[in-house]
Amino acid sequence: MVIVMKPEAEKKDIENILKYIKELGLTPHVIEGQERAVIGVIGDVSVLADKPVISMDGVENVVRISVPYKLASRMLKREDTVVKVDDVEIGGGNFVIMAGPCAVESYEQMIETARAVKKSGAKVLRGGAYKPRTSPYSFQGLEEEGLKILKQVGKEVGMLTISEVVDTQHVEKVAEYVDILQIGSRNMQNFQLLTEVGKAKKPVMLKRGLSSTIEEWLNAAEYIMKEGNYDVILCERGIRTFETYTRNTLDLNAVAAAKNLSHLPVIVDPSHGTGRRELIEPMSKAAVAVGADGLIIEVHPHPERALSDGAQSLTPVEFERVCREVKRILSAMK
Ligand code: PEP
Ligand code: MN
Repeated sequence: MVIVMKPEAEKKDIENILKYIKELGLTPHVIEGQERAVIGVIGDVSVLADKPVISMDGVENVVRISVPYKLASRMLKREDTVVKVDDVEIGGGNFVIMAGPCAVESYEQMIETARAVKKSGAKVLRGGAYKPRTSPYSFQGLEEEGLKILKQVGKEVGMLTISEVVDTQHVEKVAEYVDILQIGSRNMQNFQLLTEVGKAKKPVMLKRGLSSTIEEWLNAAEYIMKEGNYDVILCERGIRTFETYTRNTLDLNAVAAAKNLSHLPVIVDPSHGTGRRELIEPMSKAAVAVGADGLIIEVHPHPERALSDGAQSLTPVEFERVCREVKRILSAMK
């Protein structure tokens, strides 16, 4: 249920409602919009059925949210959410490119990549330190050492950083090193992990599970938001289909649908979505055209030597071209 406040509602009106909602055993979440505040009410809202919330001071309307993901829903908040990380804004018309290697391998690899991708326009440096690999014999990441390198390079070059967290026990540690926490596809329905990153004071990029529906994806976002962390960025990274030519099938339907259903920013990962270097540029352009709020792209100074995902990694020169093309589409859309 959403309690929509009047634009002129006062702070004490909101506080009064919060107190009332809590006394009924329900959990309120205040979402401040540009024009007005709304209060999402979570719990068994049937107890409100015979309560005159509508006539409380400052209340304009009370609306039932018919979808299971309440806080992530566009019904709760009509305006786009803008996730602000330092001076970078993601969503609401702010397009952001994240780039870097699949895995952090060394300081030299990271600094070379970071300098190049920043020059091309990327604002966020990616690099996995804990790698969820299909084979237990594949490179598993440099773990904390990788986080240290990522943080240092981010600072040196002046970029924000993002890295995946795979274990509830690592959330605090990863949050100390990076600006954005990444939940990978394989963990999209690891509900304990979602709850834990919901308690962290860092934005979360939530990748869509490899076989998850759009509704499951938005429910996963809800797990994070119900803990009070509203800075969630959705990431479409391709789903499993019968097709084997591409690693996954990049589902651009889901981008348009998620943007309709939710106020959260949605970005696209054409690297995992295609698994093929030559498809990154056309699918990046398509992602922009469909209304994505950003891209996350794997870049490696020497893809042929990459310890993970070399086949889908762009060289810095190829990445530069993608950024140029993306900018052309963005300006054409304006
Ligand atoms: C990654 O971003 O390196 C990654 C492992 O992605 P996904 O979870 O989408 O497979
Ligand atoms: Mn990868």
